[in-house]
Amino acid sequence: MRERHHLWAEGGSVTEPDVLLKRAQQLAQHYVESLARRAVAAPVDRETLAAALGGPLGDGPVDPLTVVEELAQGVDPGLVATSGGRFFGFVEGGVLPAALAADWLTATWDQNPGLHVLSPAAAAVEEITAGWLLDLLGLPSTASLGFTTGAQMANFAGLAAARHDVLEKAGWDVESDGLTGAPPVAVLVGAECHITIGRAVRFLGMGERTMVVVAADSQGRMDADGLRRALGNVQGPSIVCAQAGNVNTGAFDPLREIAESCRDHGAWLHVDGAFGLWAAASPAHRYLVDGVKLADSWATDGHKWLNVPYDSGFVACAHPESHRTAMAVRAPYLVRETDGARDGTDWTPESSRRARAFAVWAALRSLGREGVAALVDRCCDHATRFAEALSATKDLEVLNDVALNQVLVRVGDDDTRTKATAAIVQSGGEAWLGDTVWRNKAALRISVSDHATTAADVDRAIAAIEAAAAATRA
Ligand SMILES: *Cc1c(COP(=O)(O)O)cnc(C)c1O
Repeated sequence: MRERHHLWAEGGSVTEPDVLLKRAQQLAQHYVESLARRAVAAPVDRETLAAALGGPLGDGPVDPLTVVEELAQGVDPGLVATSGGRFFGFVEGGVLPAALAADWLTATWDQNPGLHVLSPAAAAVEEITAGWLLDLLGLPSTASLGFTTGAQMANFAGLAAARHDVLEKAGWDVESDGLTGAPPVAVLVGAECHITIGRAVRFLGMGERTMVVVAADSQGRMDADGLRRALGNVQGPSIVCAQAGNVNTGAFDPLREIAESCRDHGAWLHVDGAFGLWAAASPAHRYLVDGVKLADSWATDGHKWLNVPYDSGFVACAHPESHRTAMAVRAPYLVRETDGARDGTDWTPESSRRARAFAVWAALRSLGREGVAALVDRCCDHATRFAEALSATKDLEVLNDVALNQVLVRVGDDDTRTKATAAIVQSGGEAWLGDTVWRNKAALRISVSDHATTAADVDRAIAAIEAAAAATRA
């Protein structure tokens, strides 16, 4: 191994960068290859991880190669194979090869897309990718789009734009004057809206408890008539949060009817489509998001269904000036472009951040329009495969209409058996799925959103679920 002297390692030596990066590449390769074999999640205690990685921080430097070896070895027992084909928990997606490779390069290039002057490359790729995303998701081509950490911050940014816009129309400058003394803003949500909506509302100073909750149906869809009535009781500025893809059932709010009510009432419509918005990219599933284009802002993720590595969400807004006013910063030392070039910080809550668009560009370019549609359709087909097999199994019941990629399964119509089944599957390492409570009943929650999942993976998971459920029979 070639070594070189380094100023800070007095008399010592450190591994050359090329050797270090080759080793990192090898470790990454081993991990990717292990996904097909390793337990999806293995029981591990904190002490084991702490013993390998913890202890007081040393005073002196450690050779980077040793550091990387220690890290890779130490974390391994605690890694969850979310990017393998048999992880069906939450809605996690996986990692497309092109996106993974682009993400490595993103770290290498170390670009800051906050300002155009800091990376014309990142600015260009953000602009191009934004156009592709708006087109794929069936959103107006004139909308603005920002690259956020995930849908949580996309919901935050969309609702910040909404707050600005509805208050400006009421003659109030919320960016300058805050909310004290402002006209109250009514925020209307469906009973099954995602928890990140409440958190975004809280961050925006509007108070989670003040949200007006509109009833939802058995699939979790907001009741459109209920919304119309609720809007009728609201005076002044109002924001409606609709959902494309419920985290449990995958169901979609009736977006067209909701949009029409919002238009009649002058309310801003925000759509949380963290994973469900991707139905728009599939000709076979696009009907689910009918009317989505009529909204004012949208949130979705790259790191869920698009299978980009973590730290990738998108906020889009039909009113770029409201979006920019809610997000942008100005200071004399920030060199601003004057010819309309893109400063990424205008569209997200962050100032400096990762150049997230490179991996998104790579994912979209590698799949193409048809590839994205096929990814969505394949996951939905797998969900149907789960539902058909499990509903035909003794003791098992599918609780939701499987129109997308989510399946809720109840065992023996019994909460205890259902939760025990999830725990057995989780500790078995063959597949991973979570449990949830749907309409007061415990249920296994299966989500298919990984490009790597095959029909054989689904069959292995089905077998694991059936065996676990049988083991819970008294
Ligand atoms: C996952 C999810 C979110 C939050 O997304 P993050 O990427 O975790 O921030 C918001 N809404 C819905 C419907 C989701 O499924």
